Amino acid sequence: MRDPVQLALEIGFSHAAAFDATNLRALDEVRDMCRSDRCRRYDKSWSCPPACGTIEETTARMHAYQLGVLVQTTAELEDDFDVEHMTEAEKRHKAHFMTYARQMRLIMPDCLPLSAGSCSICKSCSYPGKPCRFPGKMLSSMEAYGLLVSEVCTMAGLKYYYGPKTLTYSSCVLWKEG
Ligand code: SF4
Repeated sequence: MRDPVQLALEIGFSHAAAFDATNLRALDEVRDMCRSDRCRRYDKSWSCPPACGTIEETTARMHAYQLGVLVQTTAELEDDFDVEHMTEAEKRHKAHFMTYARQMRLIMPDCLPLSAGSCSICKSCSYPGKPCRFPGKMLSSMEAYGLLVSEVCTMAGLKYYYGPKTLTYSSCVLWKEG
């Protein structure tokens, strides 16, 4: 099997590291942040709460996995208001993660990729009127599953924040041992 960390770095992520997925926790506090709807995706996508499952359901799904890799894209900003580079890094991270998730799913069909942000595979999500168009490609976010991203960064030995004038996007893939 290809080394998932090496594959992530070849695709172009700034940082990638493996972690033990058996200690992942889904937190009610993170679900509360989804409910506050700052991203305006709550109850708007099959990939987001409440459609992606209760905290108990996402916990049970994650606990079927033992291994994970965290992948990150860090943007260098000119200042705290450098929206252009923030947006560019977000797009780059999403595009790289689509490629990474597709390749990881080819290597390990039952792996679980968790992205940054709501699923953006379709221009407009079919939720709630029609079933998800691509359930095998859909990407829920780490937050949608209740993960505190900074905690997963610590588990992987990576930083959540790389210092002033930087912004980092993080995603992960979980898979089964053996
Ligand atoms: S694949 Fe399309 S329909 Fe399914 S969750 Fe993503 S955007 Fe929505």
